Amino acid sequence: MKADLHLHTTASDGRLEPREIVHLAVKVGLDVIAITDHDTIDGVALALTAAKAFPSLMVIPGVEINTDVPDGEVHVLGYFIDYTDRKLATVLRRLRDSRQGRALRMITELRSLGMEIEWQRVRELAQDGSVCRPHIAQALLEAGYVASLKEAFDKYIGHNGPAYVEREKVLPVEAVGLIIGAQGLPVLAHPADIGDLNKLVSELKAAGLVGIEVYYGNYGPDVTNKLLGIAQQYGLVPTGGTDYHAFGDSSEVMIGEALAPAQSVERLLALADKHSLELIK
Ligand SMILES: [Zn+2]
Ligand SMILES: [Zn+2]
Repeated sequence: MKADLHLHTTASDGRLEPREIVHLAVKVGLDVIAITDHDTIDGVALALTAAKAFPSLMVIPGVEINTDVPDGEVHVLGYFIDYTDRKLATVLRRLRDSRQGRALRMITELRSLGMEIEWQRVRELAQDGSVCRPHIAQALLEAGYVASLKEAFDKYIGHNGPAYVEREKVLPVEAVGLIIGAQGLPVLAHPADIGDLNKLVSELKAAGLVGIEVYYGNYGPDVTNKLLGIAQQYGLVPTGGTDYHAFGDSSEVMIGEALAPAQSVERLLALADKHSLELIK
């Protein structure tokens, strides 16, 4: 079983539409995918509809909630969420609105640093989805102010950059609660760089965390083994995925190149009480 449980679409900062991601997943031979857009579930229904043409592909309705900790951001994935849950949609909408206000403020900061990028262009790059920092980075790249998306983050809009603006704070534990409230399974995303990982994991485990992303993007064997140890220590399901956005960057890990073990998918299915594909579709 090949399962990539971390994929973005145009509903947030991915470049492929949900339908295109589904087609690509089939093309590269995946059996299970999860649509996990930042703070939105708008891509889920479209992906599920597109997947109806491919009975061999299971699409897990998901989300990735961006949360704040003192030294940066922590992302919490939610799997098997009820994407029709109104409370979830309302809270996510509020987060996106705050994201938009923040993006506007970052553009103002960039202007004050002499970089003229247009809000209209950033909106276009977001393609009706929520406006995220990579869209601003892309606009900076297009305008020739930076040579890569990474440089945009490193020099200007990263956490310590001069044009960085904070957004409405959400705590990791609140994201876990929100996902559980929508019948979802909370999983800690790409945790390798989190400062006090043990402290956070034990706090989130107490709140209902069920998994931790261990097989991620370009994590090497050392990082993966360390995270696997933490998964075992706390009884968490070790999940995996690429975090594929279709950025087109040469450094990007391609869809299907980091996979969740079949056993982990089985564990998630059992926890979600979705023993058959039919329950999802
Ligand atoms: Zn993330
Ligand atoms: Zn992601």
